[in-house]
Amino acid sequence: MARDLEIYLAGEWTEGTGDGHHELISPVTGEHVANVPMASDADVDEAVTAARAAQEEYRFWSAFERAELCHRVAAAIEDLVPEIARIQTLEQGKPYHAESLADITEANQYFLNAAEDVKRLGGENIPTTDRNKRMFTFRRPVGVWAAITPWNFPVTIPLEYVGPGLAAGNAVIVKPPEFTSWALLKLAEAFDVAGVPKGLISIIPGGGDIGEMLVRHAGVDGIGFTGSSATGKKIIAAMGVKRSIMEMSGNGPTIVTDDANVSAAAGAAVFGAYYNAGQVCCATERVIVTEAVHDEFVERALEASKDVRLGDPFDEATNMGPLNNEPTAMKMDRHLADATDRGATILAGGRRAPGHPTNLYYELTLIDQVPEEAAVSQEETFGPVLPILTARDDEDAAGIANRTRLGLQAAVFTKSLHKAFWYADRIRSGTVVVNDSTDFWETFQPFGGAAGTDTGWGRGSLEEFTDLQTLVIDLGS
Ligand code: NAD
Repeated sequence: MARDLEIYLAGEWTEGTGDGHHELISPVTGEHVANVPMASDADVDEAVTAARAAQEEYRFWSAFERAELCHRVAAAIEDLVPEIARIQTLEQGKPYHAESLADITEANQYFLNAAEDVKRLGGENIPTTDRNKRMFTFRRPVGVWAAITPWNFPVTIPLEYVGPGLAAGNAVIVKPPEFTSWALLKLAEAFDVAGVPKGLISIIPGGGDIGEMLVRHAGVDGIGFTGSSATGKKIIAAMGVKRSIMEMSGNGPTIVTDDANVSAAAGAAVFGAYYNAGQVCCATERVIVTEAVHDEFVERALEASKDVRLGDPFDEATNMGPLNNEPTAMKMDRHLADATDRGATILAGGRRAPGHPTNLYYELTLIDQVPEEAAVSQEETFGPVLPILTARDDEDAAGIANRTRLGLQAAVFTKSLHKAFWYADRIRSGTVVVNDSTDFWETFQPFGGAAGTDTGWGRGSLEEFTDLQTLVIDLGS
């Protein structure tokens, strides 16, 4: 029986005033598991009005009081972890034991990290030319943020905005996609338990129209967006003069050099291709391997891929679940067909696996001799695929890596410190990871794009959730 959900609007649980609901069909079972109320324009207005009122009071809380609130939220989340993780698997598809539990266990770090940072978020005392002047800076909250988030990490990505946003004195309205909002709504119970002032956080599921209304809303001061570059460009065009954090698509290469530990590189690349079924902004979207180690890499990658167990994501042995949705599966179909049309060879996988409850279970696919111009190399595929491209040497490898506008997170495998820095100095990517997967991640890691604007500008620190205010005082002569 499908569960009727309520939205978290201005600190109250309500059906909202939107037209109807979204029927949430699980990618795991194909069953209709929940009805998600769709927010209306009036709900957006209500969330914004409540957020402004709540933030007007909250901005005067001391940093230590805000840190204490974050601690209470983190503690309240702990009690909900298994249930949130279960719902996340059901609605998103990621394996419960291998990924979802750890993912949700990590969720409270966004509050704990921010609680620690905010206690040291001071300003400066700046020397002036005039001996009678004193100049100081303060970090003030921006105000009301809208966080517009994707479906691949339905809980942790919204919290990347809510945690620091709250610690820095802001209100945050989250708009998750309607088809992965249940787990986040479950987590919102922790806000009530922790005593978050009503209105400071709202979670209003809806489609792009609701996102757009928030982006254009005069009562919203800051936009936190994580999603595709295509949507990000529309938001940038629509938002006007607002503070923003834009986290967009990636096309992360893993480069395997002549002197690499090829076995480690193959393991990391395969992991980066199958983790969350490849639906990660920093997934290993391509491997660029130098000629000298190509054959060994292919052999080791095929070996590593044998450890991948595609199946029921609630089964303990499963480490890869279904894709989340049909458009993503169709993109995989399209990219594989394009690559083989251009002469690439499928070494493993290459199709949707039969015998599962839905048509979204895709086999991990290894594909060799991929030409650089193939869609699977040029674009973000967002599925469980490892496209292998061959480079003549390091110069060639760096050139291929840089011919993208999606330079989010790259990996390089080398045993030489000299080569590690050689690549770091040349790869135009927000992050370069040496000797680990492109999927390497820490909750406090500065993260964002480079190599053109299509990856956006990401998060670096808590300061980004604040405005810098300068105070000048004339003491008289
Ligand atoms: P998407 O762009 O389709 O949707 C993201 C969000 O934007 C959703 O909530 C959606 O409803 C909303 N939206 C759609 N149109 C809008 C509009 N015109 N105005 C305002 N909001 C609008 O992305 P997706 O398919 O949900 O997510 C996958 C993408 O997200 C991938 O490209 C992935 O690389 C990227 N991503 C990036 C990061 C990062 O940190 N850089 C992290 C995770 C995912």
